[in-house]
Amino acid sequence: MQLLEERIRRDGKVFPGDVLKVDSFLNHQLDAELLDAAGAEIAARFEDCGVTKVLTVESSGIAIACFTARYLHCPALFAKKSKTSNIADGVWSAKAHSYTHGNDYTMVVSKEYLGENDVVLIVDDFLANGCALKALREICEKAGARIAGAGIAIEKEYQGGGNELRAEGLRIESIARIASMDAEDGIRFC
Ligand code: 5GP
Repeated sequence: MQLLEERIRRDGKVFPGDVLKVDSFLNHQLDAELLDAAGAEIAARFEDCGVTKVLTVESSGIAIACFTARYLHCPALFAKKSKTSNIADGVWSAKAHSYTHGNDYTMVVSKEYLGENDVVLIVDDFLANGCALKALREICEKAGARIAGAGIAIEKEYQGGGNELRAEGLRIESIARIASMDAEDGIRFC
């Protein structure tokens, strides 16, 4: 998506550890018009899939998930990051590793909001090694929900998570795909 790529080029900042900071429009301050266009683009790619729920993980996936859900006319649902290892009975849970914080955590979704009649579109702001996506997929599998695919704002393709999951049969649509990035040479899109 050209609009998003242009914005990444203009305002994205490359940090050590393969971290792209997009705090001025996606991760801290939110550009609602850009997010609206990004949500529409992701939704368009899955419009015929009968999606009943857009699933993401807090907190940085929530904004893009909401705008996508608005165009698919269904609820957005976010997995919460649990601070305790005592997981209650009423939730689906999966362990994950945080790319940006470097710690392990458990994500949980209430059984009240996700079940076997759901068709899920998983949405997230970034796709790097694929850990968050795998945990969200596991939650859907535990719930018996069908996964239509995953819609991602920014995929760092060179990190391999996306292509590994595609090889496992998951449909992934990323609206900006980064082929390489570093502080000196900048960002190159696929
Ligand atoms: P993965 O689990 O695929 O390795 O990483 C995806 C998750 O880590 C996303 O939910 C996102 O919040 C975070 N993440 C991964 N790479 C980046 C990055 O370059 N910049 C930012 N801001 N977040 C990232």
